[in-house]
Amino acid sequence: MAPASALVTPERSEVDPAYTWDLSAIFPSWEAWDTALAELEQRIAAFASLAGTLGSSGARLREALEANDAIGQLSYRVWYYPSLTHDQDQRDNASAARRQRVQLLFAKLEQATSWFNPELLRVPLADIHAWMAADPALAVYRFAVEDLFRKQAHVLDQAGEHLLSLASRLTGAPKDVYEALSTADAQFPAVTLGTGASVDCTYGNYRRVLATSRVAADRRAVFNAHYDVFGARRNTFASIYNGVLHRDWFQARARGYATTLEAALFGNAIPAEVVTTLIAEGRAGVAPFQRYHRLRKRVLGLDSYGPADTYVPLVEHDVQYRYDDVREWIVASTARLGADYQARVREAFDRRWIDVYENKGKRSGAYSAPVYGAHPYMLLNYNDTLDAVFTLAHEMGHSMHTLLAHGSQPFVYAGYTIFVAEVPSTLNEELLLEFMLERAATTGERTMLLQHAIDGIVGTFYNQVVFADYELEAHRLVERDEPVTADGLSALYARTVDAYWGDAIERDERTAWTWARIPHFFQAPYYVYQYATCMASTAALMDAVGSADPGRRDDGVRRYLELLRAGGSDHPMALLKRAGVDLAEPTAIRALVARLDRLVGELESALG
Ligand SMILES: [Zn+2]
Repeated sequence: MAPASALVTPERSEVDPAYTWDLSAIFPSWEAWDTALAELEQRIAAFASLAGTLGSSGARLREALEANDAIGQLSYRVWYYPSLTHDQDQRDNASAARRQRVQLLFAKLEQATSWFNPELLRVPLADIHAWMAADPALAVYRFAVEDLFRKQAHVLDQAGEHLLSLASRLTGAPKDVYEALSTADAQFPAVTLGTGASVDCTYGNYRRVLATSRVAADRRAVFNAHYDVFGARRNTFASIYNGVLHRDWFQARARGYATTLEAALFGNAIPAEVVTTLIAEGRAGVAPFQRYHRLRKRVLGLDSYGPADTYVPLVEHDVQYRYDDVREWIVASTARLGADYQARVREAFDRRWIDVYENKGKRSGAYSAPVYGAHPYMLLNYNDTLDAVFTLAHEMGHSMHTLLAHGSQPFVYAGYTIFVAEVPSTLNEELLLEFMLERAATTGERTMLLQHAIDGIVGTFYNQVVFADYELEAHRLVERDEPVTADGLSALYARTVDAYWGDAIERDERTAWTWARIPHFFQAPYYVYQYATCMASTAALMDAVGSADPGRRDDGVRRYLELLRAGGSDHPMALLKRAGVDLAEPTAIRALVARLDRLVGELESALG
């Protein structure tokens, strides 16, 4: 076995199969895949014959819903078999071609099923309810059908929808222009570091230098050069963002929403208070965040401490974590979720659900693939670092969520929304952190683990709340008919950052340009707040799951596993409420702030 620390990346054929995934649970062979692909084509063709029948009886409606499900179930396996094979070695043309065949078939599928929702929405809901009362197999679809009708509230008549569909060519323009200006046409200058080495100040190098360089002057030089690219074009970026804001406000008003926020949250039935509570509680909970940065300033021995200094490790601690050890820790760390959960984690390791190490041509990064009808598969590029250890725990959390949801729900509810998705992944990480902290042998290791956990909260919670706070206020500018200029956006961003950073991090003019360098603002407005709410939900659930009171703990574990098993069977807020988390209330966010307070306290005492 070539360990990840080897200098030469091995070919796929040189990797010990014990550390590769076994895809035979999806299909035993390419012949079996060919047969399934043909079956899928035939089912898609047959589906068209059901058009015009939905309103005739409950039996016909159920038949169509079940036929739709059968297509969906088979699609997972037909897609993932070539897709996962391709990710093993992306130089392989045969798997690339098979993947493309499935993509073409999916385009056909979309056309072949496009009649379905409009026709279903023409059937009176009262008729559907009567049919459901008489047929339990049809009643399974109650939530899905009712949610489709709920969303009708903001669908326009045919003429209105036609007009909006014509406008859709224009509404994507700001995103495309932003991408071109910030990547394709962006010129990131080179900076010469203290060592004499030259580095281009791209997004990737910016992040790398800030997270690794122990020379403050180098970090600042890279930070300044990177930000100047956005500052120099700030009027153009402001014009693009003005387009984003007016696009969102146009769409909200066209569909009859009172605000852009309401329009963004309607799909998942999230109340606006979730975002406004998040921001209010985030602003009220900055004390441990600021304490952490003051501690960093002191430990790093800096006279001035700015945003370029917020990522570098407090200690140099180069521990290698062997995969074979870590897998045992991850199994052990999940003990408090019960023997059944733990056995499933063990099974994922023992039955080759994981593709562990890097090889030539392998896809980078990490993911958990929810292969319905088989089991989740995890792709890693495990390299013995602490980040790789927590990535493994993270993906295992996603996989257990998939496994429990797929095993408990009918197909129509097997998937889950992003609003809940990052809860089990971060909870698994927190369980592992506790386990490793209890066993940390040295102050250096303990410091590194605490910093890892704190940086996770800073990056996934505080930074995202700042972003959510800013983008809500920016949207309110156009909702109030106020002008949007580069200076106005910079002033708004500066005010927002000041409310969180206080005097713990020094802000200069460049920091105020951050609104121009965050792609999410331009590409996916009102998205990032979900990272923060997921992490707050996890903190609230951990309070119960980790409680010293056995009654509260057992109840917490039961509710948590119930949340995982529930998949997408209800709106995410309803599912979380049943698990004991109400994000419209401050409790969950306060639990996360309290957790950060504890971790910073432990770091302060570890560093003396
Ligand atoms: Zn994740």
